[in-house]
Amino acid sequence: MTNNLAQTNGADTLGRAKAYLRRFFGYREFRPAQEPVVKSLLDGQDTVAIMPTGAGKSICFQIPALLASGVAIVFSPLISLMKDQVDALSGQGVPAAFINSTLSPKEVANVLADAEEGRVRLLYVAPERIDDPWFAEAVSRMDVALVAVDEAHCLSQWGHDFRPSYRAIAPFIASLSRRPTVGAFTATATPEVRDDIIRLLGLRAPVIHVSGFDRPNLFFDVRRGEDKDKFLLRYVTARPDESGIVYAATRKQTDAVYALLKKRGVSVGRYHAGLPDEERRQMQEDFLYDRLTVMVATNAFGMGIDKSNVRYVIHYNMPKNVEAYYQEAGRAGRDGEPGQCVLLYAPGDVQTQRFLIERSIEDEARRTYENERLQRMVDYCHTPGCLRRFILEYFGEDAPESCENCSTCTAETETVDLTVDAQKVFSCVYRMRQHFGMALVAQVLTGSGSQRVKKFGFEKLSTFGLFKDRSQKEVNLLIQRLVATGYLTVEGEHSTLRLLPPSFPVLKSEAKVLLTLPKEPERAPIEATDALFDALKQERLRLAKEENVPAFVVFSDATLRDMCRLLPRSLDEMAEVKGVGEQKLRRYGETFLAVIRETADKT
Ligand code: ADP
Repeated sequence: MTNNLAQTNGADTLGRAKAYLRRFFGYREFRPAQEPVVKSLLDGQDTVAIMPTGAGKSICFQIPALLASGVAIVFSPLISLMKDQVDALSGQGVPAAFINSTLSPKEVANVLADAEEGRVRLLYVAPERIDDPWFAEAVSRMDVALVAVDEAHCLSQWGHDFRPSYRAIAPFIASLSRRPTVGAFTATATPEVRDDIIRLLGLRAPVIHVSGFDRPNLFFDVRRGEDKDKFLLRYVTARPDESGIVYAATRKQTDAVYALLKKRGVSVGRYHAGLPDEERRQMQEDFLYDRLTVMVATNAFGMGIDKSNVRYVIHYNMPKNVEAYYQEAGRAGRDGEPGQCVLLYAPGDVQTQRFLIERSIEDEARRTYENERLQRMVDYCHTPGCLRRFILEYFGEDAPESCENCSTCTAETETVDLTVDAQKVFSCVYRMRQHFGMALVAQVLTGSGSQRVKKFGFEKLSTFGLFKDRSQKEVNLLIQRLVATGYLTVEGEHSTLRLLPPSFPVLKSEAKVLLTLPKEPERAPIEATDALFDALKQERLRLAKEENVPAFVVFSDATLRDMCRLLPRSLDEMAEVKGVGEQKLRRYGETFLAVIRETADKT
């Protein structure tokens, strides 16, 4: 039995792949991680590609699909975004279509007929569609050369997005009259997930490509003991024109953060599983189309959000593990331009995640596994070393000691002697019999006359009011720092504060507490406003509105930045800009050249 994709093979296949890359996508070269994946698919080999978010997975199957002698079927989990992906491809002249429940039976029939007759080369479908007899019937008449399984970790129960419908893909492939080449794509690197993908898709001697997980354009930042609301407001309002995502751990928290930002006049949306479908869909679309600048969401928001110009991802709460974190944070800077990933850590976040694990997982072995992964996430928040190195090592990669692009490597720090303050806190925790949470300890230390303080008679403690000249928040922050640095721990359901062994010598004045704390860095907004970039963005927005597509479908931020760098003055020069392929050159080239001429002449 011949393999359709292998038939395309020839000495110059890679050359043709590159020509297509240029013609359809406007890129001169494959990224180093893409080329081997494209090559093994072109060679007709089943392929597993493990690539971090933003690495450019889609092109790895789109180019082989264009070169194949038959149809490529792409299984993708999210129907909501298929349309945007397909619109983007169509805008580039790629014959692509999708089938999902938003289409009428007649429209589905038309798409299937187009695929049968070769007018559609890339057919996006949700795996649920496999059960549809019409679909099966039509596919049996197609020449399927390639099956690409996007977000393939959905196959695995070990992954963070298990979808039972994905299990229907292997029988589907087996039912085809010719065995197509199969490519599986995911950003999840754990061995359990990878083995499941290979087994549950029935891959044959697959080639596995694990590409470098580093995303050099992302700046990683962990903030411990920060006043989260204040930080968030300051950060978001300093970047009024930049798209950002704020992740929170629970629906309640999402609603609260959303309200906070909205009250301050931020153009913000929210997304979580508790909202009506229609509202969620609308919010997602508004964010995608730049009608909303910031999205506050639980982790329900994300898979398939390939909006390329997200400039920052803030985690208001710590997520459940490093995979989830890297995937969510990786939604920043997919266009290769700088992106910031900020994690606001507070000890209570660990409690929330523990609680979620306890509540949602019955199997004990899985619970232990998840708790271990949670601990690694907590370690990330406390590592005194390079954050990028921590992440890369987690994914099994070597990394240099220092990256110069994370909060550890770039911090201006100062060493502060907190011994006396710490003694006061430890002593108070001890006198309260290590039985209460942070809030009450802070109330006692600040000398609050609250009901709870009185109820337990804590106003009689010698530590009562030791910090009466400080605010509750300041004292909370101090305590959080002592927790984050391992002097205190927060335990159990009630988040009880307890002393850890390093606090004992401090209490006895045998050791000092010297903390290296960041000096408040005043970071400039990432995107220095520049007249030409703004003018190009406005033109993009105008075209996007006219064509009813998200702005980045017209051109990505990276493309506009490249225009600012190259300042093309002719169509030939415009063709040199990264992301300007043939079709887009024809369609938008003159318009953007005019903007460049006009703005450059004015300035
Ligand atoms: P992933 O699915 O891996 O998260 P995407 O396929 O969405 O990533 O690609 C991320 C971004 O990188 C997109 O804006 C895409 O156009 C861009 N990109 C992909 N391949 C290349 C390339 N060879 N050169 C330049 N940019 C690329």
